[in-house]
Amino acid sequence: LWRFWGPLSALSKVYSQLLSAMASAERIFEILDTEPEVKDRRDAKPMKQIQGEVVFDNVSFRYAEDKPDVLRNVNLRIKPGQRVALVGPTGAGKSTIVNLLMRFYDATDGRILIDGQDVSSVKLESLRRQMGIVLQDSFIFSGTIEDNLRYGNEEASDEALRQAAESVRIDKFASQFADGFQTQVEERGSKLSVGQRQLLAFGRVLLSDPRILILDEATSSVDTETEQHIQAALQTVLEGRTAFIIAHRLSTIRDADVILVVQDGRISEQGSHDELIKQGGLYKKLYMTQFEMQQSLAMQTGA
Ligand code: ADP
Repeated sequence: LWRFWGPLSALSKVYSQLLSAMASAERIFEILDTEPEVKDRRDAKPMKQIQGEVVFDNVSFRYAEDKPDVLRNVNLRIKPGQRVALVGPTGAGKSTIVNLLMRFYDATDGRILIDGQDVSSVKLESLRRQMGIVLQDSFIFSGTIEDNLRYGNEEASDEALRQAAESVRIDKFASQFADGFQTQVEERGSKLSVGQRQLLAFGRVLLSDPRILILDEATSSVDTETEQHIQAALQTVLEGRTAFIIAHRLSTIRDADVILVVQDGRISEQGSHDELIKQGGLYKKLYMTQFEMQQSLAMQTGA
């Protein structure tokens, strides 16, 4: 049942287009045709260095004039460093919330503030530079593993690179290849597993060190060892950052400071795991179902 929390497909599409555009300049023109029409305002100012407080002030949104609202009166107040898990059925509006936070679109009504700065009034580049993103299937471009990692911060020293690789265990899988960090990977990243690509994306985050992180937790099954590496790396990467996680794993959801249950464009429940369980609403229902499923699975497999 938990699988009914779907992936962040629209965002994933836009964002990987954006990344590939950045990775290869000649493709930018192609992207401009498909990118949503968000531009810097004439009077846009660079966004000041942020701590990572996020406020949604009565935000409503529709993708087009003649389409219905997909977000309705969303109110949020997230403190710097808090972990936010977004859960809810496919099509509820989870990706739209993060799309707006990164300003891939402008809110139709209401305001989104990061450290008090309205996202619609700052330069896009200065906004997105302070955000990191890790999607289910992370973008890999043709080059070495090291190139792909350095992409997080082209100015990073070799030492910073080595440390980042080590703390998210990229060194472990790179060493399985004869050429180590210098192993060539292709754009589709076929040489790397989904889990390895995600570790690479985590490494990029450490190098770019953004205050806000957006994460679409992978649902694809990976082998147990990679899974352990991902879980450990995830904790490292989340440390000290405000994180918006489209969460699929029960443990991630349970550990979040704030769980947002998104249903039909509204936040129907908001609070910590304990608070929501006490509240006894949809979250509790889904949690109990999932919990029972895991228990019976454990019994069947004798785990
Ligand atoms: P979730 O992430 O919870 O699955 P989304 O935020 O992706 O939900 O979608 C919310 C609603 O907005 C859905 O009805 C979806 O069909 C619609 N939607 C998403 N992206 C677009 C888009 N680019 N254009 C028009 N409608 C969209």
